[in-house]
Amino acid sequence: MIDLVPGELRRIAVLGAHCDDVAIGAGGTLLTLCAARPGIRVEALVLSGGGTERESEERDALAAFCPGADLRVTVGKMPDGRLPAHWDEAKRAVEDLHVRISPDLILAPHPGDAHQDHRGLAELVTTAFRDHLVLGYEIVKWDGDLGRPNAYQPLMPAVAEAKVALLWEHYPSQRRRSWFDREAFTGLARIRGIECQTRYAEAFYLRKLTLDLAGG
Ligand SMILES: [Zn+2]
Repeated sequence: MIDLVPGELRRIAVLGAHCDDVAIGAGGTLLTLCAARPGIRVEALVLSGGGTERESEERDALAAFCPGADLRVTVGKMPDGRLPAHWDEAKRAVEDLHVRISPDLILAPHPGDAHQDHRGLAELVTTAFRDHLVLGYEIVKWDGDLGRPNAYQPLMPAVAEAKVALLWEHYPSQRRRSWFDREAFTGLARIRGIECQTRYAEAFYLRKLTLDLAGG
């Protein structure tokens, strides 16, 4: 296992099917990235929740997870759980994002996710962004779809703790859900930490990677 250090990371795109997906899947990574790169541009697209209380939760949460960033958030109004029926609308939203930004890194759901909205968005992302580094985040759920991710972002213990605290603070609408708690989030981060020889980590699925071993 080696560290791959990106040459330049000035613009990133983050995508979620639902409000809270990005924060749960990659909140610690966002905190880490934004702390290290003040002013980094973060373009966020969330497909559903627009116009509801979940949109305001999401805007506040992403602002907290991206401190110091040049953050722009778009929240669409697709109904939860209906992505296949709204495929064209979702596709257009992802393509519009591609017009707004050419990201150095994309954080999105991964194609093996059991939730059809997550899986569908993952497919749209790899279709629209063919020349980009895409890291697919994971989300614990009832379906039991945790797998074997292959890319890890270690998290400082304080960052892992901050992630859990921010999730709890900013998504009150989700607190009643059985999987939305400190143990679940911290436990998974600890397990992913074990897998990459650190205390805590977030893990991702990386489908393709182009190497530049000459360092040019
Ligand atoms: Zn979701």
